[in-house]
Amino acid sequence: MRAAVLTEVNKPLQILDLEQEPPKANEVRVEVKAAGVCMSDLHIMNGDWPLPLPMVLGHEAAGIVVENGPGVSAVKPGDHVIFSFRPHCGHCRYCSSGRTVLCIGHNDTPRWVMYDGTTRVKLNGEPVNQMARIGTFSEFVVCPAEQVVRIRKDLPFTHAAIIGCSVATGVGAVIRHARVAAGESVLVIGCGGVGLNVVQGAKLAGARTIIACDLLDNKLAYAKAFGATHTINGKTADVVKEVQALTGGLGVDAAFDAIGGEATALQALDAVAPGGHAVLVGIPAFSVRAPIALSAMVYAEKTISGTYYGSVRPDIDFPMLADLDMDKKLNLDDLISRTYKFDDINEGFRLMVAGSVARGVIVFD
Ligand SMILES: [Zn+2]
Ligand SMILES: [Zn+2]
Repeated sequence: MRAAVLTEVNKPLQILDLEQEPPKANEVRVEVKAAGVCMSDLHIMNGDWPLPLPMVLGHEAAGIVVENGPGVSAVKPGDHVIFSFRPHCGHCRYCSSGRTVLCIGHNDTPRWVMYDGTTRVKLNGEPVNQMARIGTFSEFVVCPAEQVVRIRKDLPFTHAAIIGCSVATGVGAVIRHARVAAGESVLVIGCGGVGLNVVQGAKLAGARTIIACDLLDNKLAYAKAFGATHTINGKTADVVKEVQALTGGLGVDAAFDAIGGEATALQALDAVAPGGHAVLVGIPAFSVRAPIALSAMVYAEKTISGTYYGSVRPDIDFPMLADLDMDKKLNLDDLISRTYKFDDINEGFRLMVAGSVARGVIVFD
């Protein structure tokens, strides 16, 4: 079983032959068909998120269930599934109230081993961790059954894969978290895989003004294609002033930071109108803090909030996003601007860092 393993920070991924154990109770084995290349993998590769290595990376993927461990009833072999990178115990206070992204049911085990504390993959007999308990840069994945969601079989696997992270995170941030209303104005900072999905989420929600901001003109061109009504190149323009000029001087109703950092978070907060909502979508390095102008928060009744995984409920929202895609209400074809063979995975990361792709997806033969 071949998998892409990070053995050391700031080194390329190595595709290695790993030993894989069969699924234990409440676990499934999935043959991976497609896996997206995401900034979150890169955050682990470059040490922004210091996590224990070696680790199989990858968390945005889809495949076919090939084997059930004892006690699994929600899926069966042959089902097409999207991986969820969050657990869903089903009975903690957050699962019970519908905020499954915040599930605390498995907080007693680290997020890179199975719920019994052991791993299902080994290299020369030594345990190898799985990112988010899935680690989908892998020909096969054994993971908790609650971390896969069954979807319709006519959905292409490349589309299914990206629904599992960038589409859920971007579209969910708009329609599930911020609940942007028809006619409102929106700013999106960062037009990578997640940001472009914020743009198409805003379009889906009926936002009237959708302002996209990035440092690269080719990404702004992508944003236009996905529904942005205006674009700002943050390298040359004063973003907050431009946003105010486009919104009658007030600022936007909702601003989304799809990058995740001090400068962009503050920009989002400064660009919202009085009463507006700044939403943090991209995940910053663990060490980042930001100085917020508190008086402006009070006087202007601004809200700042974070949304993790677009605040989606995977069991409800993955099939819904699949339907929206098949109905052509989302454009995932143009989002997947590049596909790669598994062996070219490091090239996928190189092109993502260079900013030359909307979303790259690895397709397994
Ligand atoms: Zn991701
Ligand atoms: Zn839970």
